[in-house]
Amino acid sequence: GHFAHGPAPEAQENKGKAKSRRAQRLAAIKVPPVVIHTRTSSSGSEVTMTYERLHELGKGGFARCFQFRCIERATDIAGKVVAKASLTRERARLKLLTEIRVHRAMTHARVVRFESFFEDDNNVYMMMELCPNGSLADMVRSRGALSETEARGYMLQLVDACRYLHHHGIIHRDLKLGNVFLAGDMTLRVGDFGLATKLMTKQERKRTVCGTPNYIAPEVLDAGEEGHSFEVDVWSLGVILYTMLVGRPPFETRDVKQTYALIRRASFDFPPSSHVSPEAKDLVRAMLTVDPARRPPLTAVLRHPFFTGATAFVPVSMPASATSVAPYYP
Ligand code: ADP
Repeated sequence: GHFAHGPAPEAQENKGKAKSRRAQRLAAIKVPPVVIHTRTSSSGSEVTMTYERLHELGKGGFARCFQFRCIERATDIAGKVVAKASLTRERARLKLLTEIRVHRAMTHARVVRFESFFEDDNNVYMMMELCPNGSLADMVRSRGALSETEARGYMLQLVDACRYLHHHGIIHRDLKLGNVFLAGDMTLRVGDFGLATKLMTKQERKRTVCGTPNYIAPEVLDAGEEGHSFEVDVWSLGVILYTMLVGRPPFETRDVKQTYALIRRASFDFPPSSHVSPEAKDLVRAMLTVDPARRPPLTAVLRHPFFTGATAFVPVSMPASATSVAPYYP
């Protein structure tokens, strides 16, 4: 899980230890009550909400995620539950506060909508939009490579979300297939702001990332004086695009040190068996440029022939069946 503490390489060496800590944290989460009553005051008036806990949606590094039914609004939502017992360290507490502060300030059609947060004696709860069709990671796991048309449609939505975040000074820093969710209508929602950060000025540079983001950019690995900025998200989107087109990530090896070595040189290739167009390959190569200053900004990404070429079709809509079987295009 990416919540293992410390700089990336060390965290990986301590993987065994981190794993058992993760297990301990998750065990500390008392199964939330079957019914939760909350009372919040918004602009002077009291609002009461009743949440009925349904099944578990999944587990993260720190959290368990359940589907809840909001009785008053007659809708289902996703609730991320974090045990207070796992927040004894100042650092863990700050991290959760940052996640909440950043996420709740973001309102965009392609970002998981943040509903509310509250606590009881045992847990902190973050309620958000339910994405019932899983994540892009689930989709690629069950289908392998997606069609180029689908990949293009999803990339456009991801760039859209990312431009919004960057416009508000937010770097997501953990964009990966597992953090991109599919809404009921199969459009995308970017979620999990656990590693996000807000820059106060465009010039500001970040020098540390806690944890081990999967799709880490080379300038984060070698956190030197220069630090990193918005370009790290472009790198991650390049990794996502490659993975959607090929069916597996570009820098996958059996050992992390080897993976980091490949990332530092942007060393990857397209297997001959994959049918990836020259335009798509060119865009992936541009986005996976080692030097962040030479990596295209998001506006340039959108002008690339992969999106603007004569045959650059995008799906008008997608059936939910596309999570497990390739859709048919007339
Ligand atoms: P991680 O820490 O692995 O990034 P999270 O704690 O954000 O994961 O979420 C844990 C799991 O809960 C996810 O892998 C996913 O299966 C599920 N999940 C998270 N958010 C949602 C959501 N908004 N709708 C549906 N499922 C979700």
